[in-house]
Amino acid sequence: MNTSLDNAVIEATHHLARAGIAQPRLDARVLVEHVLEGGERQLENGQCEHLRRLVGRRRAREPLAHITGHREFWSLAFAVTRHTLIPRPDSETLVEAALAWPAPEGANVLDLGSGSGCLLAAVLSERPDWWGLGLDIESRALCVAGHNLNALGLGARARLVLGDWTDCLAGSFDVVLCNPPYVADPEWPDLEPEVADFEPRIALAGGADGLACYRRIVPRLGDLLNRGGAAFLEVGAGQAAAVAGLLRRHALDVVDIKEDLAGIPRCVVARRRMSRGK
Ligand code: GLN
Repeated sequence: MNTSLDNAVIEATHHLARAGIAQPRLDARVLVEHVLEGGERQLENGQCEHLRRLVGRRRAREPLAHITGHREFWSLAFAVTRHTLIPRPDSETLVEAALAWPAPEGANVLDLGSGSGCLLAAVLSERPDWWGLGLDIESRALCVAGHNLNALGLGARARLVLGDWTDCLAGSFDVVLCNPPYVADPEWPDLEPEVADFEPRIALAGGADGLACYRRIVPRLGDLLNRGGAAFLEVGAGQAAAVAGLLRRHALDVVDIKEDLAGIPRCVVARRRMSRGK
């Protein structure tokens, strides 16, 4: 027996709501659309069975993006897997800040910890003359990033390398983007199960105070930035001042701190310190 789209949404919403899912109707709609894969308004038996399985996964708090396999960021579609952080709207703050920077024509962009490739792809999509290098320690994330850059028609302007932060990296860049892992150990119990149980720990865990990765990255930024280049670092809530202090101690000037849509200082912008008189 076929089920109408509306009934399928109502039933899925009910199951998700009972499991305590925050936006049950929205998630139900996405799952029903995913199962239908087209314009139909009826679910056949096999599709109903498929939907039941997906609703079960969502009830177990698996993120919607893992179930559907994609997430939108900067109005672009990104494939995501369990090996990449799911792109978050907060990170669009970095994209906006980088696009507002007076970078030279043909700018070289470095994305440290590129994950799904969402930051790199977003800036390359807006600046057809920019070139990008994405670096990640997880080869399976690099595969996802490569897929995304190619699917968006940006592959010819991007290279991806496997690396442990800046350890084997040389070169000079006009724009450095970085959304490092920044969740502090004591914050783990507060994370949603969607994050703690399903997203890659290596992309989230920032050590005892959340700042371990900044301590690895910041000392090399001066070498990696061109004169006039800038770094755009994402930070967690309450971390901006500490990261700004770290940058200043490593001969970088903090030129701006941008807030996300919720008003949380989210992106620290830094450039190489200019000596007096220049
Ligand atoms: N924004 C993520 C979270 O707290 C953390 C992302 C990160 O560590 N870079 O869920």
